[in-house]
Amino acid sequence: MAPDCKIEYLSREEIEKLQLVRLKKTVERVFEKSPFYKKMFKEIGFKPSRLKSLKDLSSLPFTQRKDLRNNFPYGFLTVSLQKVVRLHTSTGTTGKPKAVFFTQKDLDQASELIARSMKMTGAKREDIFQNMMSYGLFTGGLIFHYGAEKLGLLVIPSGAGNTERQLELMRDFRTTIVHITPSYALYLADVMEEKGLNPKVDFSLRLAYLGAEPYSEETRKKIEKIFNLNAYNSYGLSEMNGPGVAFECEEKEGMHLWEDNFIPEIINPSTGEVLEDGEEGELVLTSINREAMPILRYRTGDLTFLYPQKCRCGRTHRRISRIKGRTDDMLIVRGVNIFPSEIERVIMGLPGIGRNYQIILERERSLDKLKIKVEVEKGLFNGSLEHLKGVENRIKARLKAELMLTPEVELVEPGSLPTTTGKAKRVIDKRVI
Ligand code: AMP
Ligand code: ZN
Repeated sequence: MAPDCKIEYLSREEIEKLQLVRLKKTVERVFEKSPFYKKMFKEIGFKPSRLKSLKDLSSLPFTQRKDLRNNFPYGFLTVSLQKVVRLHTSTGTTGKPKAVFFTQKDLDQASELIARSMKMTGAKREDIFQNMMSYGLFTGGLIFHYGAEKLGLLVIPSGAGNTERQLELMRDFRTTIVHITPSYALYLADVMEEKGLNPKVDFSLRLAYLGAEPYSEETRKKIEKIFNLNAYNSYGLSEMNGPGVAFECEEKEGMHLWEDNFIPEIINPSTGEVLEDGEEGELVLTSINREAMPILRYRTGDLTFLYPQKCRCGRTHRRISRIKGRTDDMLIVRGVNIFPSEIERVIMGLPGIGRNYQIILERERSLDKLKIKVEVEKGLFNGSLEHLKGVENRIKARLKAELMLTPEVELVEPGSLPTTTGKAKRVIDKRVI
């Protein structure tokens, strides 16, 4: 079924009216059903009936990443488990991941937003869509998949990686649209050229959806030029369904944030003050059309601004700018979210490890490379080489098991890594995006 386009052109008043109805319903729902919000509302003495206008939303506290973790797994759930049909988690999270639940209605709605976004950029039923995002717990695979099916495209669920097979599928079925991380797109181009294939001539690509990690306007232009296609920025996060939260239209100037499903706010990340349209700050999102697990005023950690002007395309949903960075120290490595503290937890829990470590990020052939230098305990370098190799392998295996990445590990003498008396600078990011 084709998505309902009318909703993209509602007047401001109509959007806000719809938002208020949905917000009230959501607030009532979480107040009655979600253990986390029940407790929060009680603590601040808030009653849903106090919410009279959209402005009143700002009187509620923010919800943070740590709240999701502390209330793992079911603290945010507002339906019985019988109604839950899907679980996703945020990428790269270990220990207690952020679990996100969907009812069938939530999945249908998430598909609708993807279908709407794809249609907006000109995707058609006759297109062949190859989804090169990881399938499984990550939302970029399945959520996009069902959205594309809903629009009626032929979907090739190729998943991430396995470049040879990706190329073969693209050629055999004449793939016209891909969903891919920008860094993998550049890598793919490299491999094509290496094999004597011309990205423009030997393939049939016309559209690319680029997302899951930050990248620059220059990178978009480069990808468009190499493949001779139109590339559109796609933004989302698991806590808010995954992809389909905000998407670029043909104007390619900011991403329309689907305001019939989410209420955006931009705040000063240090003070929490709500900023005006046009001012850069942290994006805060409230999901107003979710059944299983609505979240109020969620601090995304993503830096952006809301465009004050209307888009030339005529759609009325406000646009967010390309994501400028993070308010926290989260790193995105090959599309996977990683916090340095998680790496530290894994390394420091192993025997033979000294006091200091360093995380180095580089780009090699457009792909992220993660290297970790680890100081070992005194005397370890005087022991056998075999023993050292054993320590190195153990670090690698543990990091792989827990972070799903295979970093290069270099063991160094105690005291050889730089120390500071202030805040340690343990991450060196040499990537140019
Ligand atoms: P996940 O919950 O694993 O899907 O990760 C969501 C995070 O990925 C977001 O909060 C952003 O930091 C990042 N992200 C997703 N899409 C984009 C994009 N188009 N540009 C920049 N960062 C993105
Ligand atoms: Zn537009």
